[in-house]
Amino acid sequence: MNSALNPKRTVAELKELRTLTGNDNGAQRIAFTPTWTKAREWLQKKLSVLPVEIHRDAAGNLWTTLRGESEKCLLIGGHIDSVPNGGWLDGCLNVMAGVEILRRINTQYYGKPPVTVRLVDWADEEGARFGKSLFGSSACSGNLDMNEARGLVDKQGIKLPDALKNVGIDFERVKDSGKELKNADAYLELHIEQGPVLLDLDLPLGAVLGTFGVERHAITFHGQAAHSGSTPMNRRKDAFLAAARMSPEIYKIAERSGNGVCTIGSCATKPGIVTSVVEECRITLDQRHLDSAKLAQMLIEAKAASEKFAKEGNVKVSWERLWQIAPRPFNTDLINLCDESIREACGKSHRLPSGPLHDAAEVAAAGIPTVMMFVQSLHGISHNKIEDTKEEHLELCVTAFDKLAEKAMQWIQKK
Ligand SMILES: [Zn+2]
Repeated sequence: MNSALNPKRTVAELKELRTLTGNDNGAQRIAFTPTWTKAREWLQKKLSVLPVEIHRDAAGNLWTTLRGESEKCLLIGGHIDSVPNGGWLDGCLNVMAGVEILRRINTQYYGKPPVTVRLVDWADEEGARFGKSLFGSSACSGNLDMNEARGLVDKQGIKLPDALKNVGIDFERVKDSGKELKNADAYLELHIEQGPVLLDLDLPLGAVLGTFGVERHAITFHGQAAHSGSTPMNRRKDAFLAAARMSPEIYKIAERSGNGVCTIGSCATKPGIVTSVVEECRITLDQRHLDSAKLAQMLIEAKAASEKFAKEGNVKVSWERLWQIAPRPFNTDLINLCDESIREACGKSHRLPSGPLHDAAEVAAAGIPTVMMFVQSLHGISHNKIEDTKEEHLELCVTAFDKLAEKAMQWIQKK
């Protein structure tokens, strides 16, 4: 049935793209730059031999549509943009696997599959230039904060709306792209894992359960500055000591939560001199979990711990929220189909959450049943030219992802 699918071709095309748009330092397909445009022109040339319609939406996302018997729609997504000096797989693997699957579906169904199949290349997933990731997909989902985005500037002082104008996109209209999601019944995205979980388990592929919710706070302990020589230990109000005593408890909270993770990423003290007890200690805390109830619990426990150690240390504590995003769990039926496809392709599957956000999180937030498949990353690293995956695993992921696309088409028909 899959004789038209040629995973080796996907690997060859990824190498072709690397040669075309990379240099000695890695991939250079930064969104809205000439190299990005060149990559997209190359992509469109590959697609144009198929009986498809290709257009760019109001946010600059590129849509390729293979019309089927039904208006019902299967979406496959990825992003051809990269960070500066990026890897050869992040984002474009998803797109090129999608191209191969379109070829297979077109051949197998003589140009008319049972449902409509669309490949989307999201614009500026990485946010490398303006520091705001998921631009195209968040415009499409309706979640993009227009006021925030309007004010974004790059290192040269160019505003996002002006950069968009240069490539023919009207910033004030980007949310019109939301109409593309009409009739969308399922969204699939393949991605390199960018972490070490599958590598450590020695498994090529995994089914992704969703993307983590995030709670990001600054916690400030307020004590009293005092001379480091003249102040006896029992008379001190040491803000740093309270923060330090709380820290191990924060990590225990993450451990108790099951799959949660937490990071105390920074610690700043005032007055910050060698001869003074610390008056003020500000740390940042990033907590993540796939389960919103457990994430909320992690936050409650962290607040309780901060108050306990503040009280014990005779200092005060205050919290400030820096950023927050809800977990985006994926669709249970599609997770099961993803698992099944992986087992058929290579025998064994594993379910894992995604720490990084992806365009799929935006599509899921728009209410469209979504799932992602991860393929193992060597070195557990990405956003770096050493990012890599074994070629046999790349071929395997195209095969498994194609099986998932077929199962999802059948699932959509039954809905
Ligand atoms: Zn990516």
